[in-house]
Amino acid sequence: MRKTLLAGFAMVVLGAVIVAGARWTSVGQQSQFVVGGALIDAGYGLQDGLESYDFEHHHEITPEQVWAELQKQNGRAAGMRHTFPRTPRHALVALVVCMDARIDTNELVGDTRHYYYVIRTAGSVMSEREEEMLELAVENGVKLVVLTTHSDCAAERVAKTEALRARYPSLASAVDERESRIAEFLARPAIKAAVDTGALAVKRVAIDTLHDELAARVP
Ligand SMILES: [Zn+2]
Repeated sequence: MRKTLLAGFAMVVLGAVIVAGARWTSVGQQSQFVVGGALIDAGYGLQDGLESYDFEHHHEITPEQVWAELQKQNGRAAGMRHTFPRTPRHALVALVVCMDARIDTNELVGDTRHYYYVIRTAGSVMSEREEEMLELAVENGVKLVVLTTHSDCAAERVAKTEALRARYPSLASAVDERESRIAEFLARPAIKAAVDTGALAVKRVAIDTLHDELAARVP
């Protein structure tokens, strides 16, 4: 019943968008953006409760069956892109986010258009490689770099637990040097110059994993 209601809600909202139509007015565009987000939320709401599609709860499923299902789902999703092509513009924001599957970068920013550069590593760790990726993004027009951590992070748990450090020594070291890598990134000449001239801002935030909420983080 809940699913039916949500589907009905989504259809009503979609109809309202089509009727409103006013793509060429700023109010119409704002409505379109907000309603688009609401439709995505409705989509998440419809899918979240479907345990029969939740791989995590199907321990008997084989890797090949998971791959087949993923391909099938991609086929459906990619088909929609032919109808609603993605924006060709370049991003103004680059995010560094943990690979934790519970964090959805679209939900973090309330924007479904993938209009962001996103680097995802366990524990949001960076090496010189990721620093170069961010600098390349800045060279391509990024004006805001957001460096994140999050609650209940498995990579941080590795760094804090002796037994886990022994199993994952490289990851533990990367978490240990996270702050020094950030300092290293900020000291890169191109990044320092961009920040000094006001062309670039770098923000540090902590993510509440359960709610995808951002909070200012003091290093
Ligand atoms: Zn994490």
